[in-house]
Formats: sequence, C-alpha cells, structure tokens
Amino acid sequence: MKVWGSSALVAGSLLLAASAASAASKKMDEPKIDFDKVQIETIQIRPNIYMLSGAGTNMAVQIGHDGVLVVDTLYPELAEKAVAAIRKLSDKPIRYIIDTNFRTDHVGGNGVIGKAGATISGGNFAFDIEDAAQGASIVSFEKVLMHLSAPTGQTAKMPPDAWPTSTYFEGGKDIYFNDEAVRVFHVPAAATDADSIVFFRKSDVIAVGDVYQATTYPVIDVENGGSIQGLLDAETRIIDMMVAKYGESGGTLLIPGHGRAAEMGDIVWYREMLAIVRDRIQDLIKKGMTLEQVIANKPTRDYDGRYAAKSGPATADSFVTTVYKSLTAAKAANGKATKE
Ligand SMILES: [Zn+2]
Repeated sequence: MKVWGSSALVAGSLLLAASAASAASKKMDEPKIDFDKVQIETIQIRPNIYMLSGAGTNMAVQIGHDGVLVVDTLYPELAEKAVAAIRKLSDKPIRYIIDTNFRTDHVGGNGVIGKAGATISGGNFAFDIEDAAQGASIVSFEKVLMHLSAPTGQTAKMPPDAWPTSTYFEGGKDIYFNDEAVRVFHVPAAATDADSIVFFRKSDVIAVGDVYQATTYPVIDVENGGSIQGLLDAETRIIDMMVAKYGESGGTLLIPGHGRAAEMGDIVWYREMLAIVRDRIQDLIKKGMTLEQVIANKPTRDYDGRYAAKSGPATADSFVTTVYKSLTAAKAANGKATKE
C-alpha cells in the first residue's frame, strides 16, 4: 500500500493517470475493460481515509471504531475485489455507502458491497441505522435513485439492491461517523443533475466524484442536467472549502472520481482551464459560429496535451461539444439549477 506524499506515489500516479484516461475514453455504460486483470490499488490519504482505485475510477474509504464508510463503489465487476481491499483495511461492518453520481463505475458495487456490510456485522450494531438489517445505508442525492430505478414497465439501470436507501432532497446531509463530521453536499447541474461531494471535516479530505477529474477533461452530461457553469460553480465551492498548505502534503486533499489525489493548486488550475475554454467558446458562439465551426477553431488546443482523451467522452471534440451544448442551452440549465 502507498501513502499519500511518499515518493513511491509518483509511479503510481502515472499508472492511475493512464488507466483513468483509458476508462474515460469508453462510454461509462459500455466499459470494454478486462476486469479479470484489474487490480484494486490502495493509497492511504489520511490516517483513517484511503483511496481505492480500479479500472480508472476511485472510491474513498473512511475507517474507524464505528465501522466503514465508502464513497462510490466502482464497476459491478470489481465489487468482490473492492470488498477484499476494504477488508484489508478494516473488518468492521460497512455501514454507509455514499454515491457521488449515478454512473455505472460509481454505483456498480452498491449491492455487493452493501450486503457485505450486513454479513460481517452479524447484527451487532452500536446504534440505530434504519435499514441496518439490509446492509449498508446507501446515501445519495434524490436524483441518483431516479436515474437508477425506472418507471413501471421499463428496465432499471441497476437492480434494486444497488439503489440508494437514504436520499436527500435539498442542500445536503450530515453524518457523524467514526468521530468525524461527514458532510454530503449537492452541487447542482454540474457533471450531471445528481452530483454530491463528500467532506470529511476532521480528516480535511473532500471526495468530489466527477465534478473534478484529475487527468482528463470533465464529462458533462448535458442531456441529464449537467452544465459547464454548474461544474465551475461546484469547483468554486470546493476551492472555497479548501485550505492550502503549499510545499508539503498538508492542507485539504481531494479524492477525485478519476485520477490521482489532488491539492488545492491542482483544482485551481483545472477550474481556470475550464473557465478559459468556456469564455473562448462563448465568444465563438457570440460570433454566430456553428458547433462545427467552433470545433474547427480548436478552443482547447493548448490544453489538449494534458487533458484530452484519445477517444470517448473526454476527447477534445467531445468536451467542446458538451460545453457548446451547455452554453447554448444555458437558459434551461440555469432554470433547473435554481429550482434545486
Ligand atoms: Zn466518473
């Protein structure tokens, strides 16, 4: 296992970056990943907070005497491996799962990991959790449940045992667990219409899901209520919550949905990049350019080397397309955001 801030992380970070790029290059719902070959990599971020990575997606794990709390659950095919990796850190019951969004690689292990919690716990609960007998409580913003379940007669995206059991509707939800305040916030109309960020207040770590991707352009799902402005607002909020301690592995740390753990300078740079690209594309739209003309103008060219995936939803062209669609549909997206 690696520890955040150690020199051994450099090689690990490069590997993570490569696998994140390859995961992002595929449609989140149609992964072409050889899951048998995927290993779960564990990095200790803070004394009781770990980042577990598999097939390019990250999960955060908080451990302590109350049990285990997990943020995101990776692809369904990796669920058993994820449980095994968690068990190397703690044999306490898995009491909470928090989903940062509804994408398959973030919720896929909900059912298996949630039930593993019940098996280990053996009914020995220190305090009340409404659905303790069913396993872990699965927490999310309400719209995650809407996306994972389905109206009668339609096929649900996920089986019922993977659905959230404890959804919140307004600004957020607070959990006190392992002697730590864990604050779950909804960030409206960001990567999707259902994103949460999770702030471990004592550990000073924020799990941010797909609101910040360390290694590629963001994947903004405009069809499902995501927007470039919402993403920028969410990152502004995250930056406001952070306190930097430059030059050392101190200060607030981020566990992104994909890629290496990050410090304040990383997300400040990323947000600036997004704002510059947004402004460029907005200017081209004002000049009356069509989407094809905006793409041909290459408004991301100076960032492509660092953030463009070679295929899939995080390529330069896909990113420009989603920003264009988001800006031209901005009225609708803003209306949606204020309603939430
Ligand atoms: Zn993701």
